[in-house]
Amino acid sequence: MMLPTHVLVGMSLATPVALAVPGVAPAVIAGAVVGSIAPDLDVVAHHRRTLHFPTGYAVAAIPATGVAVVSPTSTLVGIAAGVVAAAVHCRMDVYGGSHELRPWERNTDHAVYDHVRGDWQPAKRWIRYDGSGSDLLVSLVAAIPPALLLSGSARTVVIGALAIALLYTAFRRRIPDLVDAMSDRIGHGS
Ligand SMILES: [Zn+2]
Repeated sequence: MMLPTHVLVGMSLATPVALAVPGVAPAVIAGAVVGSIAPDLDVVAHHRRTLHFPTGYAVAAIPATGVAVVSPTSTLVGIAAGVVAAAVHCRMDVYGGSHELRPWERNTDHAVYDHVRGDWQPAKRWIRYDGSGSDLLVSLVAAIPPALLLSGSARTVVIGALAIALLYTAFRRRIPDLVDAMSDRIGHGS
């Protein structure tokens, strides 16, 4: 799914914790946002492989959450929120479309690389592809809890993520042609 959807789902899951423990609210929200974004930084390396650890994040989330519950400092709560959000991110990518420039063409089933199994997890395509209408719908629904229940900079992040989600969805189908045109130009040395 697209990055804004990851961010909004992460924030939505962090919202009840932020409300229950207001003292660590900024840490849990910031941790969730960073953890939701971090896996997709591998778009400049081997996307959906280099920083995607579908098993690793899920396993790490258990001790990270346990430590944060026992010792709820902002740092430990932020780290736990980040690891949980990264685990959720990788799970969401499996429910989305395949890892390819035009995922609607379904030329591959690869969703996320599982470093433990040494193989790609297959795309379930519940959400057809990143930037599809159903992906935007998930973004909109996930935005409701943080938009209504949080305030300040958290609400600004929600509005920013929704704006990016709308733009990305509007132009998603044109991105492959732009990428092809750019690589053609680079290929011709201009
Ligand atoms: Zn991803």
